[in-house]
Amino acid sequence: MPVLRDPHQRGVGLSKPVVYFVRPGRALEGVGLMLERSGFFRRLKPKKKLGIKVHFGEAGNSNHLDPRFVQAAAIAASFHNLQPVAIETTALYRGKRQNAASHVELAKEHGFGVEHTLTPIEILDGDHGEKYYEVRLDSGQVPVARLAQGLRLYQYLINMAHFKGHFVTGFGGVLKNLSMGLAAKAGKLEMHSHSRPYVDTEQCVSCGTCVEYCPAQAINFVQYVAQIGRSCNGCGGCLAVCPQGAVRIKWNAASGTIQAKMAEYARAALKGREAFHFNFLLKVTPNCDCYPQTEKPVTPDIGVFGSEDPVACEQAAYQRVKDHIDRLYPHLGPEAVIEAAESLGIGTREYVLEKL
Ligand code: SF4
Ligand code: SF4
Repeated sequence: MPVLRDPHQRGVGLSKPVVYFVRPGRALEGVGLMLERSGFFRRLKPKKKLGIKVHFGEAGNSNHLDPRFVQAAAIAASFHNLQPVAIETTALYRGKRQNAASHVELAKEHGFGVEHTLTPIEILDGDHGEKYYEVRLDSGQVPVARLAQGLRLYQYLINMAHFKGHFVTGFGGVLKNLSMGLAAKAGKLEMHSHSRPYVDTEQCVSCGTCVEYCPAQAINFVQYVAQIGRSCNGCGGCLAVCPQGAVRIKWNAASGTIQAKMAEYARAALKGREAFHFNFLLKVTPNCDCYPQTEKPVTPDIGVFGSEDPVACEQAAYQRVKDHIDRLYPHLGPEAVIEAAESLGIGTREYVLEKL
């Protein structure tokens, strides 16, 4: 459990990382407050590029991160003579985020143009997600992580995650934003590769939605029932689009493996970098921002957590919505990614909470 820090008692709990918190009404000013309060900028060299990692939201989804938070971070960074850039990668799923050009177009439609955020946009993994560099990890299930090539030029990161539910991993927060969010397509596929689904033949009504959606053309009709073939890349999209819920997955094994790989990718993304992490618990929806619909949040807005420790930041956020996530996805064991990240030495689940 977190220790509440009394700001007047210097030295209390200083061996643990601090997680800052602001309520929803102070979310906007909280971005700059947390960055300054933590001293994060003081460790960075001026004139360097600073990547602000965001998810611009799929077309049709308006629950994505508010672009004003990116603007707030950019203004704070400019006081320290840094060069902020809003960074993202292409998505595995079919849609406007699948390639760089239409992804940037969508980001602008969602209010992330430079005139609003004061930062340019850069898609880091090439026009179609094909460009990556490799980070060798010495243990675990991912010997070599394939991260977006453009990330190489960013030594400093502000990791801004909209915290929400996720049908494969239970939830997505700062660790997912670092791992799936900064991997090139090859890396995303590698993390998803244990999640190949199957079709429940009793439930399939042969509507063809999944066949049309599948980016790998892996689904065909066999005797009027959809069947998933070997070319499936495990992206999980058919689970999201099937109107009957006929696409299934062996959740326990798959989700645990994906979460373990995500922790390793997050470690690779942070290797040699200075980073500050935000979890925005605003509009916490059942599914992720890749979902092409605006869903009803599962809870009233909670606030914003921020920390230089991504594990502590994730733990603090997850604890606040654990009951909702567990109700949505009782079979997934979503805490596994936090535990794996801690065991890899990325951070710690023990923290000190400071309310600003
Ligand atoms: S069949 Fe495989 S590749 Fe096609 S949408 Fe489903 S999970 Fe993705
Ligand atoms: S979307 Fe679902 S119901 Fe429609 S064909 Fe695919 S599996 Fe069957």
